[in-house]
Amino acid sequence: MAENFDVIVIGGGPGGYVAAIRCAQLGLNTACIDDQSNKEGKPSLGGTCLNVGCIPSKALLDSSEQYHRLQHQFSAHGITAENVSMDVTKMQQRKAEIVSSLTGGIGVLFKANKVTSIYGRGRLMAENHVAVLDPESGELSQTISAPNIILATGSKPVELPSIPFDGEFIVDSTGALDFDRVPSRLGVIGAGVIGLELGSVWNRLGSEVVLLEAMDEFLAAADHQIARDAARQFKKQGLDIRLGAMVKKVSSTPNGLQLSYTQKGEEHSIEVDRVVVAVGRKPATEGLLAADCEVSLDNRGFIEVDDHCQTAETGVWAIGDAVRGPMLAHKSSEEGVAVAERIAGGFGHVDFNTVPWVIYTAPEIAWVGKTENELKADGIPVKTGVFPFAATGRAKAMEDTAGMVKVIAHAETDRVLGVHIIGPHVSELIAECVVAMSFHASSEDLARIVHAHPTLSEAVHEAALAVEKRAIHKFG
Ligand code: FAD
Ligand code: AMP
Repeated sequence: MAENFDVIVIGGGPGGYVAAIRCAQLGLNTACIDDQSNKEGKPSLGGTCLNVGCIPSKALLDSSEQYHRLQHQFSAHGITAENVSMDVTKMQQRKAEIVSSLTGGIGVLFKANKVTSIYGRGRLMAENHVAVLDPESGELSQTISAPNIILATGSKPVELPSIPFDGEFIVDSTGALDFDRVPSRLGVIGAGVIGLELGSVWNRLGSEVVLLEAMDEFLAAADHQIARDAARQFKKQGLDIRLGAMVKKVSSTPNGLQLSYTQKGEEHSIEVDRVVVAVGRKPATEGLLAADCEVSLDNRGFIEVDDHCQTAETGVWAIGDAVRGPMLAHKSSEEGVAVAERIAGGFGHVDFNTVPWVIYTAPEIAWVGKTENELKADGIPVKTGVFPFAATGRAKAMEDTAGMVKVIAHAETDRVLGVHIIGPHVSELIAECVVAMSFHASSEDLARIVHAHPTLSEAVHEAALAVEKRAIHKFG
């Protein structure tokens, strides 16, 4: 007979493992099945985020940023260093240790919360049963059941049919996090969040980086004013971003790889040593559902859910990258908590209007809520306040003055509808704006809050004041 649990979670990423822990905290007997393993073939919890996503990318972004600053920015502080070098092997070891300590930590959290951790590939069967298959052989190892099942299988990189990954020279984001030396010339297909972050890492370490982006508009999801400033900053750093460039194929040459693309109807090509394909991610739902279960997928493979993450089958829920909405770790986790609370009979809620977005380049880019362009297209009357970091004492003291804060409020009610920031440490600054929007603050509320001096947060304060043209440290 199948072992029975109160809840089975399929997928141990930030959606699944957080859902499993919250279920256990609420007194539910919970199992979490995950198929991810590390290079040694050992199970490695934490999903894309901890193993090959958020965490390793931020580790490399930090290492490369320190290296770049030491070479190009420290001299302004009077600090000079000779013979600066980067040991890529050591940088990669540091990244691997961070990943292993965090993925191991999830196992410890599971034990502490009495979550049953199962290494295997889960497949949803009829009548609330789950088959657990061996990830390598695909053989059935056990069948378990539960009245509630949470599907949290995440996502995978999209592969371009004409440019298949070869694991060494043409790679996805996972491969680009693992280069053992700095490529002299790197081609990145797709100038989205992942392409920009990984392109920045290798650019700072010395690669000549060309990003080829099919769309004519740079960072189309961001506020236009912020995206324009970002494009200027990245160009200054030497990132060669070519827009409207549709990549068609990659071929081998005696000296590397030739990337062929069309731009404004003309054929172009560049020669590079390695290619990173960063054209987006797709839901990891292949083979997840047995033919006789009622859960449905949309035409792109996303699991169809309602606003409460409930699928078409009673007791089956789905969260995270495998369902609609932004592919962000914190969005997955919050959906996981909300579903756990609904299962336990409580109230679960995710405010999708206040999910923050962050791009961890330098300067960082972060936003919450709507862009000015979106609001104008919707016919919503707005007023905006913009304040540059260059006018704050703290940014000047840090020698890090690029960027600005832009607060957008409703022209009549003054309610904050969006905050868009580019600049230093803005991944942290955005939290205040998320809180403000979650509590339906007005720009005046933000303007009346005392902000410590000298801090970067004063730029948020001044931008809120600027909505009514009363910023203190700004003329005009
Ligand atoms: P995942 O993290 O993908 O986890 C799903 C897990 O389920 C995986 O372990 C998978 O192997 C397993 N699985 C799949 N199918 C099965 C099955 N049938 N049985 C058992 N197990 C299965 N997001 C941010 O918010 N901030 C960032 O800075 C950020 N940086 C990123 C950088 C990179 C390079 C990448 C690739 C992604 C980044 N993301 C970032 C996105 C983030 O990683 C995802 O949004 C997040 O991991 C989604 O969580 P999830 O739990 O839904 O899925
Ligand atoms: P994101 O969705 O943030 O991961 O970004 C992926 C980016 O890749 C998007 O901006 C796409 O427009 C871009 N893209 C997709 N296919 C191609 C292609 N063949 N050539 C160049 N860019 C592409």
